[in-house]
Amino acid sequence: MTLIDSPAIVQGTTPPVGGPSLPQERRLVTAIPGPKSIELGARKAQAVSASVGSTIPVFTVAAGGGVLVDVDGNSLIDLGSGIAVTGVGNSAPRVVAAVAAQLEQFTHTCFTVAPYDSYVEVAEALNRLTPGSHSKRSALFNSGAEAVENAVKIARHYTGKQGVVVFDHAYHGRTNLTMALTAKNQPYKNGFGPFAPEVYRVPTSYPLRDGGLSGAEAAKRSISQIEKQIGAGNLAAVMIEPIQGEGGFIVPADGFLEAIVDWCGANDVVFIADEVQTGFARTGTMFASEQFGIVPDLVVTAKGIAGGLPLSAVTGRSEIMDAPQIGGLGGTYGGNPLACAAALATIESYEEDGLVARAAEIGELMRGILETAQAADPRIGEVRGLGAMMAIELVDAASGEPDAALTGRVVAAAHAAGVILLSCGTYGNVIRFLPPLAISDELLAEGLQVVVDALAAA
Ligand SMILES: *Cc1c(COP(=O)(O)O)cnc(C)c1O
Repeated sequence: MTLIDSPAIVQGTTPPVGGPSLPQERRLVTAIPGPKSIELGARKAQAVSASVGSTIPVFTVAAGGGVLVDVDGNSLIDLGSGIAVTGVGNSAPRVVAAVAAQLEQFTHTCFTVAPYDSYVEVAEALNRLTPGSHSKRSALFNSGAEAVENAVKIARHYTGKQGVVVFDHAYHGRTNLTMALTAKNQPYKNGFGPFAPEVYRVPTSYPLRDGGLSGAEAAKRSISQIEKQIGAGNLAAVMIEPIQGEGGFIVPADGFLEAIVDWCGANDVVFIADEVQTGFARTGTMFASEQFGIVPDLVVTAKGIAGGLPLSAVTGRSEIMDAPQIGGLGGTYGGNPLACAAALATIESYEEDGLVARAAEIGELMRGILETAQAADPRIGEVRGLGAMMAIELVDAASGEPDAALTGRVVAAAHAAGVILLSCGTYGNVIRFLPPLAISDELLAEGLQVVVDALAAA
């Protein structure tokens, strides 16, 4: 669209500047979506593939702190952070300044053509911050899926083996290899096969739905299946999200991850933690692995890494990361200088603005409100999560069966009331809360109350 067509300009108003100085309030001036969003939605339908969906059909003009402002002037509470990306907040001042400065210097050389120091500095930061004090190396990419694929490439090269084990309810992306790694058919895989070979799926630990197996018992079940059906001699890697994201914010029972890591260590199998959604302060530690007491061989990161700019990484043991041939890893845009500048500013913000502790605080606040709601409503089957990665699983009160229809009604009602809310889960019955860590307590509590009220009315 040309500048002159911009709805804000047609209306003769200047769009607000994003960032934390935006008024931190929920304010609806039209129905959701408003007339301008409806008009843009019609253009979207004519121009954009119908296969690219949107959770909430409002078009954004500015965002910051805990709010997103749409073209109609509605200010919505953001409980999704663009799927756990803008932990530091939208247009966070440190990020804006760093990217603006980099824009003036150079925008691209391709690191594999002519390198620059910010890429090295991001790698140093990742090596320092990821779990474990062993010698590490990193490589940078563009998306979570691309980094996941590279972690598998690296593990296969290092071990000389091909098999990859993933788990029920896993989500690792939408490219061909990562579709194979992802569990859920609709909408991620349906009609898109054939999928990459040598990918094997085993049960995970899902305390609400596996009869309350202990972590050790669930791990024994998974390991037995790996040994009987694949064999360690054929297995390059085991990959898991420490808390499963799209699959339903599933927190494994204590000891599950530790037992899997120990088995990998004893069997020359690379343990890969996909921390794309759990990483970067989100769970109340820099990485979720820390809270489970595990040290992965490779850690995959993306989403929260760069304040909204596209960047991802694989970080891990030097001997594994250095195994592939020179030129075996890379890409045109991976570790783009704008994204690296953003990442350095974002990481500085996590460390110096106290955002790790803030995520834990947000978790306590959310858990309190959600557990109070659960005590009054048996349709909340479980409140679970760590830090600012919290969820409720909605069930039929009598049978305990997943209630996706109820979940859909609650999400729709929250959207109509001006709260951006995401669902997830294999059974579509989990509401997940991923607020920006820059949100205020007041706004967060107000947003959660909208959801609790929507549930009561549904
Ligand atoms: C989002 C996500 C991915 C894929 O990341 P993209 O940037 O969308 O490719 C992979 N793993 C996990 C755990 C994710 O949440």
